[in-house]
Amino acid sequence: MPQPRVTLKAGREKSLRLRHPWIFSGAIDRVDGTPDAGATVAVHSADGEFLASAAWSPASQIRARVWSFDPRDTIDASFLAEGIRRAVRRRDAMLDKAHTGCRLVHGESDGLPGVIADRYEDVLVGQFLSAGAETWRDALVAALREATGCATVFERSDADVCALEGLPPRVGLLAGALPDPTTLVEDGLAYRVDVARGQKTGFYLDQRDNRRRVHELAQDRDVLNCFCYTGGFSIAALAGGARTVLSIDSSAEALALAAAHVVDNRLDAARVEWCDADVFSELRKLRDGAREFDLIVLDPPKFAPTAHHAEKATRAYKDINLLALKLLRPGGLLATYSCSGGVSAELFQKVVAGAALDARADAAIVERFGASADHPVALNFPEGDYLKGLLVHKRA
Ligand code: SAH
Repeated sequence: MPQPRVTLKAGREKSLRLRHPWIFSGAIDRVDGTPDAGATVAVHSADGEFLASAAWSPASQIRARVWSFDPRDTIDASFLAEGIRRAVRRRDAMLDKAHTGCRLVHGESDGLPGVIADRYEDVLVGQFLSAGAETWRDALVAALREATGCATVFERSDADVCALEGLPPRVGLLAGALPDPTTLVEDGLAYRVDVARGQKTGFYLDQRDNRRRVHELAQDRDVLNCFCYTGGFSIAALAGGARTVLSIDSSAEALALAAAHVVDNRLDAARVEWCDADVFSELRKLRDGAREFDLIVLDPPKFAPTAHHAEKATRAYKDINLLALKLLRPGGLLATYSCSGGVSAELFQKVVAGAALDARADAAIVERFGASADHPVALNFPEGDYLKGLLVHKRA
């Protein structure tokens, strides 16, 4: 059977020429053949020029995702295995070996749309989040095991985006056995990872460098960590010599792991308090109780997965940033993040500026943050730039 062929409308090939890997349904003029979900299609311009080989996603607005722009490539198990090996090699050259947790494959930005793989010691956690990734799942898992020597692979293909791709959620062990607990070491600190039930693949590896920065800034400060999850920033702050650390999250399971991390790392439990609560209302309680802090971390969940949700999300970001700036002592620091793809760095800065104005805080950005180096942003894929952070100094 000849490969199905997708022909774009006239003028709609521009983004592909810029090597952007997504083909939206509205750009497609004609499909010759009847590609199954995940099948490889050849994408051509209106005047018949080959543009890319892509995986067909019939249920998604992103109707196809590019595997290769090179007409000589055949998309098969060995092509994908080479993509996996390349991604793993990139991390080898970039990441300090003392960190035993690492994102090995970061989807579009590693040339493998919909494929995410994180390593925690000898455990791999994979997410196959597009029809193409799902179709090649067995080959990708085999390639990941071969490239890393890891025997254990756990699947967490239960992200929200699966529904947009028409994929049923899949969670479970694909190979090997999970150690109990599954752990990682980051900057000398040990963390447990609940790969089966935790957020995403179990740990926020993208915040590694930012946790280190909080570690450096925490000495003798009263720290407030909002949306603390399993306590990454809290443990970093404690290890960095914080006077006290108050951490808030609404997940009791996450807080249980966070408390275990204090013991595992032989830190002083008397200096830390875990609070199972809604951050929005707890910040108001702290304000009404006239509590004050020297360093506040705000790392909320993705309020705006797409630009469509941006308006509601900006209200939520403004609310927590305003309250945090009020709770900050003069001279204090606010480390504030957004992991919303739908909120640009520019918009996020505007929201924080609006919050400072309403809080009557004279404040300045003293540093900007992004994701760690194992979460690259391919220059042809600006959508990959989801995590942005600001370090804001409240002036006396
Ligand atoms: N800073 C963390 C990651 C945060 S993930 C780290 O470095 O590991 C976002 C967290 O926000 C999740 O743990 C989730 O349970 C929590 N959360 C979501 N909405 C919340 C709310 N309204 N109040 C409190 N916690 C919330």
